[in-house]
Amino acid sequence: MEKQVSLPRGTKDILPDEVQLWQRIEATAAVIFGRCHCSEIRTPIFEATELYARGIGEATDIVSKEMYTFIDRGERSVTLRPEGTAGVVRAFIQNKMFALPGPQKLWYSGPMFRYERPQAGRQRQFNQIGMEIFGTSSPKADAEAILVSLDIFEALGVQGLEVQINSLGCPDCRGNYRKALVAFFENKKEEYCSDCQSRVELNPLRVLDCKVPACKALNQDAPSIQETLCEGCREHQKELLAFLDSVGTSYRLNPKLVRGLDYYTRTVFEVVSGSLGSQNTLCGGGRYDNLVEECGGPPTPAVGWSFGVERLVMILGGKGNVLPLDLFVASLGEAAERKAFELAHGLRKSGLSVETDFSGGKLDKQIKQAIRLNAKFLLILGEDELARGECLLKNLSERSQGAVPLEGAVEAIAGLVK
Ligand SMILES: [Zn+2]
Ligand SMILES: [Zn+2]
Repeated sequence: MEKQVSLPRGTKDILPDEVQLWQRIEATAAVIFGRCHCSEIRTPIFEATELYARGIGEATDIVSKEMYTFIDRGERSVTLRPEGTAGVVRAFIQNKMFALPGPQKLWYSGPMFRYERPQAGRQRQFNQIGMEIFGTSSPKADAEAILVSLDIFEALGVQGLEVQINSLGCPDCRGNYRKALVAFFENKKEEYCSDCQSRVELNPLRVLDCKVPACKALNQDAPSIQETLCEGCREHQKELLAFLDSVGTSYRLNPKLVRGLDYYTRTVFEVVSGSLGSQNTLCGGGRYDNLVEECGGPPTPAVGWSFGVERLVMILGGKGNVLPLDLFVASLGEAAERKAFELAHGLRKSGLSVETDFSGGKLDKQIKQAIRLNAKFLLILGEDELARGECLLKNLSERSQGAVPLEGAVEAIAGLVK
């Protein structure tokens, strides 16, 4: 045999026994998005590199270390999308969707690419589903966005969900918090990890995000952003929480929640699941009132979130779902095989899932194959049956059987199996 070619590091085949769950996740999300009048948008897998440098922020890990960027044959710098929001924002501006009536609600689904060290649940090609609401600064939109994500997870049966909420303030009040943080770090800087030491200079809020245990312990005593919020930001959060209260959704205020991206203003949130033992962030997002303008559009407040499908599949225990099979068609002899082929084709057209024998082997081997495939019904057509002008239909779960005349067999069998 020739040497095999393996898949690229950090990528994964999604095999048939897992794809069932992927389809269920995608279909469930589409239904729930539709219920709040949120439309799907599909943007390109690659965009001009500049979009991400401007839209995500040059200082973020994503842009500085993790992007798949290359020069194409036309000497343009292009990047495989590392996340979904920037492309949707670009499409929103370029297609002048800001001129459409009312807030625009958009959702997307598809592969994203980041050059990271692969580990469990983290790949270089991964899939995200997300939503964005453009054109309203109302905290009601923040609440609706959070509830849509919860509705999707609940409909899929995810257990132990918790919503964590924080506010990162606005450009007016965030500066005050930044100052308070820098003052706090001042005399402890050496005790933090080297990454955090450089974060203090670039973006002190991100120190709160550090997963290093020593940094986490030090951060316990850090000042809370909740105390430095301005009146407007405080009011925004109060109203968001009141909307969540009105539908009985519980949440936890987490003043250490900062998210990895620079563009958030006011609300940030995560949906956390405790169902894999430790707490796992399932979904994250927030408000980004300045991003559309920074990307060249008119001032447009917005809020959005995304979740990683791979992690959700892990939580839902993705494997072992096989495609159900209504009927297996076994036949013996050339003439019978041709008639069986015709029946199978007709039954598929009538809406049944049907598999046939390809081996031409003995009947008992074909029956074993039907049982292995977990078929609900088995149709047998041998030379004797063909001569009598009938076929044999077995219900494999009830272990009952009966003869069906070949004349009008498709309608009769379709009726019996359905
Ligand atoms: Zn503010
Ligand atoms: Zn650290």
